[in-house]
Amino acid sequence: MKIICVGRNYSEHAKELNNDVPTEPVIFMKGQNALLPHGKPFYYPEFTDDLQYECELVYKISKNGKHVQAKFAHNYYEEITLGIDFTARDLQRKQQQKGLPWEIAKAFDNAAAIGEFVPVTPGMKVNEINFQLKHNTNLVQDGHTKDMIFPIDKIIEYASKFFTLNIGDLIFTGTPAGVGSTAIGDVLEGYLGSSKLLEVHIK
Ligand code: MG
Repeated sequence: MKIICVGRNYSEHAKELNNDVPTEPVIFMKGQNALLPHGKPFYYPEFTDDLQYECELVYKISKNGKHVQAKFAHNYYEEITLGIDFTARDLQRKQQQKGLPWEIAKAFDNAAAIGEFVPVTPGMKVNEINFQLKHNTNLVQDGHTKDMIFPIDKIIEYASKFFTLNIGDLIFTGTPAGVGSTAIGDVLEGYLGSSKLLEVHIK
């Protein structure tokens, strides 16, 4: 099982981190070690002084595939949830400045928290989903999938050119604006529409 992540998929977020808005999806991976299952606490790692949350819509792959065309991509997922792409922003900045890979900043143990999965129903328009993150009950991220630069079906088309998709793989689709730092004692809560699917306690 692998976790495919998209960076800079919302232009307002790309701008808040002073990054260019991409013309092709920015893809990176996290391994199985990074998965933080639903309901488990997150322990603040000792190697960072700036752990940040990025709330993202997450798709679970339900069918194996390679070279999937966007028009067929909807056949490859049946469930979604919200997740946190935890990022050691200080390490990421350091790596970026040196032109080095991001893994130590993003793919460390438990850096991919997920909530409870819900089915993608036939009536659900995946490009019209509102989702929100509350940080200690304050609304900090308010995203809408229509603002994605690359919608899920395009992400699947692009990623599956390089990586075979396997049942159970997860796709983190990028975060909207409003990312921020978190601390021990914090609570992060993710809402899909009005349903709370995610709650992570930082310990
Ligand atoms: Mg992210």
